[in-house]
Amino acid sequence: MEKIKMTTPLVEMDGDEMTRILWKLIKDELLLPFIDLKTEYYDLGLEHRNETDDQVTFDSAYATKKYGVAVKCATITPNAARMDEYNLKEMWKSPNGTIRAILDGTVFRAPITVKGIEPCVRNWTKPITIARHAYGDVYKASEMKIPGPGKCELVYTDTDGNETRELIHQFTGAGIIQGQHNLNSSIESFARSCFNYALDTKQDLWFATKDTISKKYDHTFKDIFQEIYDAEYAEKFQAAGIEYFYTLIDDAVARVMKAEGGFIWACKNYDGDVMSDMVSSAFGSLAMMTSVLVSPEGYYEYEAAHGTVQRHYYKHLKGEETSTNSVATIFAWTGALRKRGELDSLPELSAFAEKLEKACLSTIESGKMTKDLALITTLPNPTVLNSGDFIRAVRTTLETLL
Ligand code: NAP
Ligand code: MG
Repeated sequence: MEKIKMTTPLVEMDGDEMTRILWKLIKDELLLPFIDLKTEYYDLGLEHRNETDDQVTFDSAYATKKYGVAVKCATITPNAARMDEYNLKEMWKSPNGTIRAILDGTVFRAPITVKGIEPCVRNWTKPITIARHAYGDVYKASEMKIPGPGKCELVYTDTDGNETRELIHQFTGAGIIQGQHNLNSSIESFARSCFNYALDTKQDLWFATKDTISKKYDHTFKDIFQEIYDAEYAEKFQAAGIEYFYTLIDDAVARVMKAEGGFIWACKNYDGDVMSDMVSSAFGSLAMMTSVLVSPEGYYEYEAAHGTVQRHYYKHLKGEETSTNSVATIFAWTGALRKRGELDSLPELSAFAEKLEKACLSTIESGKMTKDLALITTLPNPTVLNSGDFIRAVRTTLETLL
């Protein structure tokens, strides 16, 4: 079989620990035999980030702006223990945070649904994608403990020194206080990323806040979404046969529980933090969750939602067998290859991505899976495969599909 051609390189961001081991296996078994793989390689493994004073992370993000599509392996975010383990010069920042700041993007997380791994919520027959706004609100709040009676006000001083004041509370005893903010520019980027991703994946978009109670703060989120939708997206949504739907957050939560899925749920920062963990665990497994960072300019960075699976890596180093699930990392590659195929008009590349995803799902549905899934599957007598054997089983299925 002739290998599938690519024209523009993917930005390849290699990573750490067990996922770095899977990364190479996936390339060797599932990609290189079938595709004339073009990538621009950036080694985001912690050792190389340390050697380059983290410059490699910045370079990989700039390359994503140049080429448009990246695929990323999970990476270690250093903490005190990692400082010693890797003898680091500095406690380098989270690569995902650095890349997100440069691309100004929103992260979309979606479960990979497969027969035999059933969601806790019976009526969720299609995936629910969560988009979390990643700036401001309670995550950048200022707080104070109020020791006793006194007046608390919000004070805005403009650049000419004029003050606008708003009473928060006249305290008669001790209490607590918090000041939150957000930026119109950040909310606008969030809105555009959501609308673009909805068009891209042909799914309805839901958005919810508490605008009835928060008549200025949350209402601004609602208004910005609506203004951008009306001015830039309403016609495109109509043409694509999809819908933008705004409601109150408590109504949204109730509707989500009764829905069948198949939509994107855009959440404010805190709502997204809480709801993404609820939705992902209800769908079954962190190892079956994909994640894509979408910038308002239309740059994409695909990855798995899980981390580097450190505990499995230490077993691997001791020469013990591991059964680590590679599906979300494989889907990061297929997401990136499909997008590259779309942008470069290479239907064969997109079709290959489709088949590779199908091969993963068929392999699991035939009863062959890693241990994490075998523990929760509803299929009878699953066969538990080790990390490498699962990837090779997917290859066997893939070869029958090609
Ligand atoms: P983790 O790597 O997601 O793993 C936590 C546990 O979840 C694992 O020990 C394993 O459970 C299970 N698990 C996760 N992915 C799995 C897979 N593919 N197959 C089978 N089981 C899987 O989270 P962590 O251990 O908290 O973090 C490890 C490192 O990852 C940290 O240094 C953190 O900074 C980094 N991290 C990176 C990203 C990213 O790059 N996007 C995201 C999160 C964390 P069992 O051990 O019970 O089998
Ligand atoms: Mg959280």
